[in-house]
Amino acid sequence: MNSPANDLVALLQQLIRIPSPNPPGDCRDIADFCAAYLRSAGFATTLVAPDDRAWSVVGVLGEADSPSLLYHAHIDTVPLGQNARWSVDPFAGTVADGRVYGLGSVDDKAPLAAMLLAAADIGAQAERVQGRLVVVCAAEEEVGGRLGTKWLVDNGHVPACDFVVVGEQTQNRVATAHKGVLRAAFHVAGRTSHATDPWRGRNAINGMAHLILDLERYQAEVLERRPHPLLGPASINVGVIEGGVSANVVADACTIRVDRRMVPGEDPQAVIAELEQIVAARQAADPERTYTVGEYLVSNWFQSDADSELLRRFLRISAEATGTPPAPVGYLPGSDAKHLVDVARQGMVVFGPGTYEVAHSTDEFVAVDELETTYRILRHFAAETLLA
Ligand SMILES: [Zn+2]
Repeated sequence: MNSPANDLVALLQQLIRIPSPNPPGDCRDIADFCAAYLRSAGFATTLVAPDDRAWSVVGVLGEADSPSLLYHAHIDTVPLGQNARWSVDPFAGTVADGRVYGLGSVDDKAPLAAMLLAAADIGAQAERVQGRLVVVCAAEEEVGGRLGTKWLVDNGHVPACDFVVVGEQTQNRVATAHKGVLRAAFHVAGRTSHATDPWRGRNAINGMAHLILDLERYQAEVLERRPHPLLGPASINVGVIEGGVSANVVADACTIRVDRRMVPGEDPQAVIAELEQIVAARQAADPERTYTVGEYLVSNWFQSDADSELLRRFLRISAEATGTPPAPVGYLPGSDAKHLVDVARQGMVVFGPGTYEVAHSTDEFVAVDELETTYRILRHFAAETLLA
């Protein structure tokens, strides 16, 4: 049978059967497959990489600059977990109970399959296309996109478009914002001594305990009082603590590594200033130890224009197809959207089937009916925007 649902499931199975775990991030085979698929659908196709593994594909259909749409999905997946005991073969694309199982099935090969099939439908009506449809199949998302989408944009491989859809797991809700991340390390330096006589030393771990409580107060008294309307408050998490050498020695060093989630509108420099102020206050209260913060790593947030005609159209079409209200939501994890901000002229959404909790987990799956809905929305939106 050759119904769209069967084509969609078959295409997703083909994608799952081409492993693309990252690390190591070798996307050559899956990029080749996507390039061949888009070429046979009538797209002018470029296959590029900054090295010998991070291959990405850009397919372009149509000449005119506007109206123009960009559909983006990533082709790499997370690696199999070390203790993963899958109940099915993670690279088989097993179909059971209305679901397709596999590593990368929902993240991100489901939106990838929906975008490719929608692109093929538009390609089959190429003579009616006014404007342009761009499909980007990107490597490297799972490790931050520096050699994937960011590299593609920085090197001019992605044309600017009116509206961008980034395929990720939103349960087919339309997300117009996601958080950014600022990583930092805090250090406390004290003075070592024998544990039989601890007051001769300055215990760095005890100093850090006070600093961690300062960060808890910062969460409760500062961050939670300024929530973002779609994403809630910014947050700070102490993920790693290290310090000390032995129970009978007063520790002279302690380090924590934190993850500070930023909401749209927060300036990373202002966030850094807040962290440095917390350290300065603790230092003033405890001159016997030395408190420092640094090693910053920033991954930006994204927030789309709340009121463009194309966004309203996307909200209407998806609300009709899903029965949910035509209102945007926030998406909690990061995505490649942050690298596409300068490419999206009138707006960008993150959109696709499933949830991010199911992504990156054992027995990852996508529900076939949800995937079909994604595909119908993407096809309808492209047809209404691009076909004369
Ligand atoms: Zn993803």
